[in-house]
Amino acid sequence: MLQLYIPLNFLGVVYRELKQALTDMDRMFTLLGAAREIPDAPGAASLAVRGAELSLERVSFAYEPSRQILHDVSFTIAAGTTTAVVGASGAGKSTLARLLFRFYDLDRTAGGAIRIDGQDIRDVKQETLRAAIGIVPQDTVLFNDTIYYNIAYGRPSATREEVVAAARAAHIHDFIEGLPKGYDTPVGERGLKLSGGEKQRVAIARTLLKDPPILVFDEATSALDSRSERAIQAELDQIARGRTTLVIAHRLSTVVHAHQIIVMDHGRIVERGTHAELVRAGGHFAQMWALQQQQAAREAPLADPAIVN
Ligand code: ADP
Ligand code: MG
Repeated sequence: MLQLYIPLNFLGVVYRELKQALTDMDRMFTLLGAAREIPDAPGAASLAVRGAELSLERVSFAYEPSRQILHDVSFTIAAGTTTAVVGASGAGKSTLARLLFRFYDLDRTAGGAIRIDGQDIRDVKQETLRAAIGIVPQDTVLFNDTIYYNIAYGRPSATREEVVAAARAAHIHDFIEGLPKGYDTPVGERGLKLSGGEKQRVAIARTLLKDPPILVFDEATSALDSRSERAIQAELDQIARGRTTLVIAHRLSTVVHAHQIIVMDHGRIVERGTHAELVRAGGHFAQMWALQQQQAAREAPLADPAIVN
């Protein structure tokens, strides 16, 4: 059983990394304004954020006309609350995050909309939309620049003290201080190669520094071992408090306290409720939960040899 499980899981990881690398290239182009930038509507207004209520209304979406990815997805995240989206790989979770940040626009003829405090995000200046949202993506792309620049990018006007405070909160300060050039160490292609977990911490520090009213965590701790995950999860829970937060989660134990959990399958919402409600309902979520609990129990003795006596 264990022998079968490991290679399958390993393949899953490789496949996901490959797929994600392609998506991130796309994202970089958009970030750099090099290609496929979506134009602002003429006379677009600035986004006016009040409580930051976020609502998806009958959102349907396809990257390519021949293949519908999201089907009629509707949910509202009340101002200052946390909603988790869970579901199998390929269900369309990251697509929701990309639409929210307007890496892609919803087709106006399809009838759906994404609104922040009632304003259709297609009608506001992208600059003001992106200033209101902080994303910790599934796989972070770092700029070919110093580690300091990569964190300060979240808010270029930040002071050095603020950058260091954000790095501390993301549990990466000590690691940075241990580098020969500290915060001035170049990272990325031509510099230091950071591990997936270290890159995630940089992205978390960047987002903490940005301090936006809306947060999106897309499997933000998936590259961390379970002990670091717990430590950083506590920080993320702390900054999410009182902010409108969308958490895309792989490990269900990290979203037990979400105000609302949305379960997606093949681009549709199949269940919604609190953790307790969904476990009680005995459906899709309850099954995933039971499976992960079993897995955690199996893996615990392997992860911590001290427990095996
Ligand atoms: P999840 O985050 O739930 O794993 P995604 O939202 O990343 O799922 O992907 C949903 C579906 O959309 C998948 O079938 C994926 O292959 C497809 N997809 C993702 N990005 C693109 C893209 N840029 N072009 C075409 N298809 C894509
Ligand atoms: Mg994803």
